Amino acid sequence: MIAVLKPNATKEQIEKLTKWLEDRGLKVNLSQGEFYTILGLIGDVSKVDTDLLEGLDMVDSVKRISEPFKAANRKFHPDDTVIEVGTPTAGIKIGGSNFHIIAGPCSVESPEQILDIAKSVKAAGATILRGGAFKPRTSPYDFQGMRSDGLELLLEAKKQTGMPIITEIMNVTHLPLFENVDIIQVGARNMQNFELLKELGTIKTPVLLKRGLANTLQELLMSAEYIMAGGNHNVILCERGIRTFETYTRNTLDLSAIPVLAELTHLPVIVDPSHASGMARLVEPMSLAAVAAGAHGLMIEVHNDPPNARCDGAQSLTPEQFAETVTKVNKIRKAVEA
Ligand code: PEP
Ligand code: MN
Repeated sequence: MIAVLKPNATKEQIEKLTKWLEDRGLKVNLSQGEFYTILGLIGDVSKVDTDLLEGLDMVDSVKRISEPFKAANRKFHPDDTVIEVGTPTAGIKIGGSNFHIIAGPCSVESPEQILDIAKSVKAAGATILRGGAFKPRTSPYDFQGMRSDGLELLLEAKKQTGMPIITEIMNVTHLPLFENVDIIQVGARNMQNFELLKELGTIKTPVLLKRGLANTLQELLMSAEYIMAGGNHNVILCERGIRTFETYTRNTLDLSAIPVLAELTHLPVIVDPSHASGMARLVEPMSLAAVAAGAHGLMIEVHNDPPNARCDGAQSLTPEQFAETVTKVNKIRKAVEA
């Protein structure tokens, strides 16, 4: 349920009403927009007398929200959510009119590899460095990532380049290792690991939540809701392709997810064209399409030696290809902004 307040509602009135609602066992989500103040009510709203609420001087209207996701719902929070990443001095904000490119290798492989790639993607315009330390591989015989050593190397690359870092968590017990990670990634395979999501709700670090291989947009939003319900509202959604009957590409990039999510939620949406297509030559066209469709950013796999990458070489761009892609992405951004 949402209560839209009149523009003249005072701070004291809002606090008093919030307390009254909280005393009825509801969680109150305050959204102070440019024109409206909205109280989003989460919980058993059957205990609230809507006529009484609507009759209050300060209340303009009361509406029930039928969707099961509440905190992530655009109706609760009409303005886009903007998430600060890294230190405030870094000035990196994701969401709203901001646009960022996350780039780096699928996996951290060595000190030289991650630092070399970090420097080249930064020079080309990436603002956030990616690199997997704990890797979710389909085969247990494949490279599983450098694990905590990989995380150390990523932190060292952050120190040397000043780039905030993103890396994937697979096990809730690893959370202490992620203390200095700027964005924690929840991979497609863990999108519905609800215990992990609940734990990530208890911290403030931004979470990039990837859409599961066979999950609907509503399921993605319900997973975001798990994190938000715990108090962490810094959730970034990521469309990374879904399973369809098409086998030519690794997955099928669901471009319509971008405008649909923009309608349904205030959370930022990033697109990963690398895992979506599985082929380096498709990464650029899919990036351009995602930007034209309104994505708040991209996450692109880049490797300094793709043929010898330990993971996902076929979909990795070289630093040179990445730089060319960024140039074209910027042209599309200008075109759609105009
Ligand atoms: C990744 O980004 O490294 C990854 C494993 O992606 P996904 O979870 O989308 O497969
Ligand atoms: Mn990968």
